Amino acid sequence: RAKSGGRGRVESFDRMLMQDETYRRGLERELRGAILMDELEVHYQPIVDSGSKQIYALEALVRWRHPVRGYIPPSEFIPIAERTSLIEQLGLWVLRKICEDAAQWPDLVIGINVSPAQLKRRDFLAKINAVLDETGCDASRLAIEITEGLLMDGSSEQIAQLHAIRKRGFSLWLDDFGAGHSGLTYLRDFPIDLIKIDKSFVQDMRSSENNRLFVSTIAQLGRGLSKNVIAEGIETEEDLLLARAAGCSHAQGFLFARPMRAADVPAFIERAGTARAA
Ligand code: C2E
Ligand code: MG
Ligand code: MG
Ligand code: MG
Repeated sequence: RAKSGGRGRVESFDRMLMQDETYRRGLERELRGAILMDELEVHYQPIVDSGSKQIYALEALVRWRHPVRGYIPPSEFIPIAERTSLIEQLGLWVLRKICEDAAQWPDLVIGINVSPAQLKRRDFLAKINAVLDETGCDASRLAIEITEGLLMDGSSEQIAQLHAIRKRGFSLWLDDFGAGHSGLTYLRDFPIDLIKIDKSFVQDMRSSENNRLFVSTIAQLGRGLSKNVIAEGIETEEDLLLARAAGCSHAQGFLFARPMRAADVPAFIERAGTARAA
């Protein structure tokens, strides 16, 4: 490490890491403030029936409008929140916002992304219940989106937790299917209602026969298990045609709408119509 000649490089590398760590600490502190100051927003993206294009559900996606840095994407601040208990506060803030917003439109189900770090907590359901009670929101309006990841280990505690979540009346959706590892084990062992195929498979369907095969195989598996299957990342009519041909019952992506502010949702629902009530 201290080899002469490489030394300068090593030092600057250390300095870079430190700056990175300093940056993350700073962001973490600001995020804590942002939650308290209501600088976060929740946007909603429609999920539609792949045939009729009517709205089936919405996905809630958190946004941070930083007063100085501008928009910071969740891919940057969620991992930072996940390193600390901040993810819990953030998750509950998002949930409360969804519950308040959902009162403004009819009974559509709303998907909420939940980090494995939140799920792991024993008091997860108790905390969620408190927010539902406070806001008068019904659990049937919400679908918990879980992602494959290292923290989702499929332990018996975890599976019991997922069953408790469904027993409470929430739906359970498997997000980004295919992107992580052990996907099939999840499908076998977790009480999942619906599968969302990761957009990396969907988007390459245009050029990759292999991806078309994967998407249709997952869709067929979903059908065999009586689960709806959503193709994520649908950007063009061609994507939609391919996803539908592959057997995906539902679709989500920029072709239909980008994530939008809650205030814009009722007009969108009015225009597109709904394919299902909660
Ligand atoms: P995700 O749950 O897989 O959400 C879908 C992501 O795909 C969103 O990115 C959405 O804006 C994007 N997307 C939708 N349609 C298209 C499309 O046609 N093309 C492309 N290229 N992208 C599309 P976003 O909002 O940046 O969120 C990224 C990730 O951050 C989410 O992935 C989710 O894992 C996480 N996330 C977002 N909100 C929350 C939250 O409230 N809590 C937690 N724990 N995680 C969240
Ligand atoms: Mg999601
Ligand atoms: Mg996803
Ligand atoms: Mg994702």
